[in-house]
Amino acid sequence: MWLTDARVVDVVAGEVRDGVSVEISGGRIGAIQKQPGAGEQMSLEGRYLVPGLISVHTHLSMVYPFSDTDENENPGLTVLRAYGRAQDALRSGITTLRSVHELNRADLLLAEAARAGWADVPRIVGAGRAISTPGGHGEGHGSVIADGPEAFREAALAELDAGCAHIKVFITGGIANMGETFDQPQMTSAEMAAAVGAASERDAYVVAHAASSLAINQALDVGIRSFEHAYDLDEDTARRMAAEGVFLTPTLCVTRSQEWMRWKGFEEFQIETSLQVGPMHLASIRRAVAAGVTMVTGTDYPPGDPIEGTSVTVYEMGLMQGAGLRPRLALAAATSTAARLLGLESEIGTIEEGKAADLVAVEENPLDDTAAMRGISFVMQSGRVVRDDRPAA
Ligand SMILES: [Zn+2]
Repeated sequence: MWLTDARVVDVVAGEVRDGVSVEISGGRIGAIQKQPGAGEQMSLEGRYLVPGLISVHTHLSMVYPFSDTDENENPGLTVLRAYGRAQDALRSGITTLRSVHELNRADLLLAEAARAGWADVPRIVGAGRAISTPGGHGEGHGSVIADGPEAFREAALAELDAGCAHIKVFITGGIANMGETFDQPQMTSAEMAAAVGAASERDAYVVAHAASSLAINQALDVGIRSFEHAYDLDEDTARRMAAEGVFLTPTLCVTRSQEWMRWKGFEEFQIETSLQVGPMHLASIRRAVAAGVTMVTGTDYPPGDPIEGTSVTVYEMGLMQGAGLRPRLALAAATSTAARLLGLESEIGTIEEGKAADLVAVEENPLDDTAAMRGISFVMQSGRVVRDDRPAA
């Protein structure tokens, strides 16, 4: 099958190839050339063809408001809740997602169901359950609780045995829990090192919920390479993150979605805290962008949820652009750069021969402005059209 009359977006070079045809064969991208070869054709009528989006910070199983979470919930229910959100994500153009903690390891169960052909969902790169210190940020949300380096090592190995691709920890507090602060580390360096050690033995890595600089520096010392939120990041730490080539997921939307939070039944103190932290968070991410930190896109909230007339993920891309990230880098953050973080750069993240045929089409050039991604009208995953609501020619 050939997708014809496409403008193929190269997110790495920042270029567009006009008027080309893309071969789709066996779920993969085949030849990319001027004229289509033999076989069925589907004209994109000059639309921009973009790699399928990758969201690297998702919680498909989260309960809103958080206070309704039942840590002893039947896993069947957890997976059903996660399944709906995974389907929303796929329809909104997210063809791959990294989960960073799911109740009852719903991500791993859903991924297994997808492999068996029972569930239409994005490619899921799972964390299983996060690991938290006692009384830490993950307490009360179904995380594994560990105290001391040996316990962290054991917990990490258990999640890896269950099939997770990375280990999620909380190195500071956050903004979700009553009375919580986030300026101090919640893990010792030895605990962080134990998690990193266990992950490295299985070619995995550690991703840290990380609000502030002191803990991020500790984590950098022991080899953590994926950081989430950075509500309060100083300039020196931003420069160090850039120099060491680690990844930052800003999740700007979590301090800029008060209406969405109200809709989901968040408690008033959570909405207020997110509003209060907003300016500090944006200033931090501006510093990170200016320092050249490698950015990836994730949202905490269900990535395909509607917000501000688009999906949470596309909303986040716009916020990253608003923090000073050039449109090409904001697009790469949700495609090629994210693929590199996941270690899947040979499989997804760009439109190249041999890669998975994970594609979306839009009307405008997203290299000029990621707002173009608001107009996704066509989604293909592994060569299969999962959405096509382009107006009839
Ligand atoms: Zn999160």
